[in-house]
Amino acid sequence: MSTTAEFLSQQHLHFINGDWVKGNSKKVFIVSDPATEKTLASIQQGTTDDIDAAVSAARAAFDNGWKTTAPAIRTNILNNFSRLVAEHAQLLAEVETFESGTPLSWTLPTMQFGFPSFLSYYAGWPTKIMGDTIPTTPLGREDQEFLVYTQKEPVGVVGMITPWNSPAGICLMKLAPALAAGCTAVIKPPELAPLTTSILVKLADEAGLPPGVINMVHGDGAIVGQHLAEHQDIDKISFTGSTRVGKIILESAKTNLKKVSLELGGKSPFVVLADANLDLAAPAAAMACFGMSGQNCMAGTRVFIHKDVKQEFLKKLDTAIDMLKVGNGFEEDVFIGPLISSTQNNRVLEYIQVGKDEGATLHRGGNSLDPPGHWIEPTVFTNCKHQMRIVREEIFGPVMVVVDFDNDRESFLTALNDTDYGLSGSVWSKNIATALEIAKHIDSGQVAINAHAAISAETPFGGNRQSGWGRELGREGLDEYLKTKAISIRIDENYE
Ligand code: NAD
Repeated sequence: MSTTAEFLSQQHLHFINGDWVKGNSKKVFIVSDPATEKTLASIQQGTTDDIDAAVSAARAAFDNGWKTTAPAIRTNILNNFSRLVAEHAQLLAEVETFESGTPLSWTLPTMQFGFPSFLSYYAGWPTKIMGDTIPTTPLGREDQEFLVYTQKEPVGVVGMITPWNSPAGICLMKLAPALAAGCTAVIKPPELAPLTTSILVKLADEAGLPPGVINMVHGDGAIVGQHLAEHQDIDKISFTGSTRVGKIILESAKTNLKKVSLELGGKSPFVVLADANLDLAAPAAAMACFGMSGQNCMAGTRVFIHKDVKQEFLKKLDTAIDMLKVGNGFEEDVFIGPLISSTQNNRVLEYIQVGKDEGATLHRGGNSLDPPGHWIEPTVFTNCKHQMRIVREEIFGPVMVVVDFDNDRESFLTALNDTDYGLSGSVWSKNIATALEIAKHIDSGQVAINAHAAISAETPFGGNRQSGWGRELGREGLDEYLKTKAISIRIDENYE
């Protein structure tokens, strides 16, 4: 595989039935570096015809062999794929830093260790996918004897639609369990950051996947993404993105009642109790909110702080934020990169204005920084009320809202879940029993105690309420790509 400069200078094509193809459109879209606004690539738009070709290749690959490929072969290919991702970590990390702005200090270790572990974890599963034998007598057949068992089968051809923040990791969270289960895939990468997905597809091909098992079509969400979600020959859509588009996906999927899993937005609480270790909690709050410039679905943007320790916490928080360097993700020690686009910059600035209008106190930040690039300083609002829009809605930028609470437990517990989202969250306390009680109360797919966003290949990840449907990672992430068939065999002697 080439270096980053060589890779970026190549033509970036669609991948259909094992071939890199130009596709049917004359239109192109531009991928630019959010830190410099320089063009990284110009990619030919996919069309609905390209999606049709990709779906029919994925269907043929599914029917003609991948679904029944020996489990040990799927294991070998996934292990090869994992090794190749780790070997190409530098390229993948640099390209992701270019296209998404996420600093290299984050993209490199995730490509070296975290994302290969998604593949190696699921490489262990094909040989362990099994059903049950069920001791039962079917209704009205009390005089007969049956052997009843279940078997797990792959759901079929899966459409995968991914967002621009962490595009490689999110693609692998879908691809690894789908391939382990025996599904084939058509991937629609995010148009703002599609390049790491192209590299992954090339590596998957090199790992030994037969033609048609994975396919990729670049292009506009509202055209190629929507056609994929509506497609009659797609069995499941696995979508990660905004709650707004998640609802459109549901509408599209009803054409053939395909299965849907959704990983959507978040507004996660970061709860600091009066007895928390503030030396740990304050810097962790800064990192949980401002990592990836707040463009992280799990970001701990809603900080709940006990009144007794608020001033001390804010002082330590300020010290921690002062140490977070804002800049181009390729520069050493940079922690906060750019926002993805001018549209996103403007959206965040609008929310900052909403916060001021709602009467929250602008504790620090609030301004955009000079172009080129899209930048907003780390921003903290204090004296927020849980009913405010800035506290309830996903901003997806470097904006923290701080809500105080006191010993009125009922109001505090009500405020914690007063948002449409339920993705992540954390509780900080030296008293594990109290922290656990609050963790149980938070209506989210995952809550950490004295840590924020503790993710691993083995642990199910996903959202409640408007943060989504289903789970990725862990055994439950595999189940999303399997369906159960019950087989009942009459075995008594009277059977003729
Ligand atoms: P988005 O919803 O705008 O786009 C996501 C994907 O959907 C893109 O590939 C886009 O092209 C496609 N798309 C757009 N319109 C479509 C349509 N009509 N039909 C089919 N596909 C369509 O989201 P984004 O701005 O790329 O990503 C940010 C959002 O993603 C945030 O809300 C964030 O919280 C969420 N997110 C969630 C998770 C999670 O695991 N829960 C992870 C990362 C990001």
